Amino acid sequence: MSSLALYPGSFDPITNGHLDIVTRALGVFDRLILGLAVNSRKTPLFSVEERIEILQEVFRDEPRVEIHAFEGLTIQYAEECGANVIVRGLRAVADFEYELQMANMNRRLDPQIETLFMMTSEGYFFVSSQNVKEVASFGGDVSGLVPPVVADRMAVKLSSR
Ligand code: ADP
Repeated sequence: MSSLALYPGSFDPITNGHLDIVTRALGVFDRLILGLAVNSRKTPLFSVEERIEILQEVFRDEPRVEIHAFEGLTIQYAEECGANVIVRGLRAVADFEYELQMANMNRRLDPQIETLFMMTSEGYFFVSSQNVKEVASFGGDVSGLVPPVVADRMAVKLSSR
C-alpha cells in the first residue's frame, strides 16, 4: 500500500517555503495531498479557485501531488482522504506554540493520525505568505521567494487594486 500524507494550509499564496516542505515530504511519502483549508474568517488575497489554479499550475508535472480544497476540521479531512499523517512546517518559535496545541488536539480527536513536523530550510525560515504579500504590495522583489506563476499573479492582482 502506498503511503499518503496530508499537507494542509491556506497557501495564500504558496511560497518557496511551502514548496520546500512538499519536495521533502515527497522524499518520505509516496503521495501527498495539498489540502487548501477554506477559512471564512480570513480575507484572502486569492480566492479558493485562484489558489487551486495556482497550485495545479505549480504541481503540473508532479503526479504524486493532489490538490484539494476542504472545509472544517483538518483531522476529519485527513480521515476522509485516508491519510494517516499530517505534515506541517515549522519556521520559528512563534509557530511552535500554535502547532503544539493543534497537534495535541488532533491527536486527541484521532490518535491514529500522526502530525509530522519538518523544520524550514535555512533559505526560507523568514518566508511566509503574509510577508511575501506585504513586500509585493509595496513593489518589492519577491522572485526567489515564490514560484514564478505566483509572482506574476500577485503583480496582476495588486496592480488592479
Ligand atoms: P496556515 O494558515 O495553516 O498556517 P500556511 O499556508 O500559512 O497555512 O502554512 C501551512 C504550513 O506550512 C504551516 O505548517 C506553516 O508553518 C508551513 N510553512 C509556511 N511557510 C513555511 C516556510 N517558509 N518554511 C517552512 N514551513 C512553512
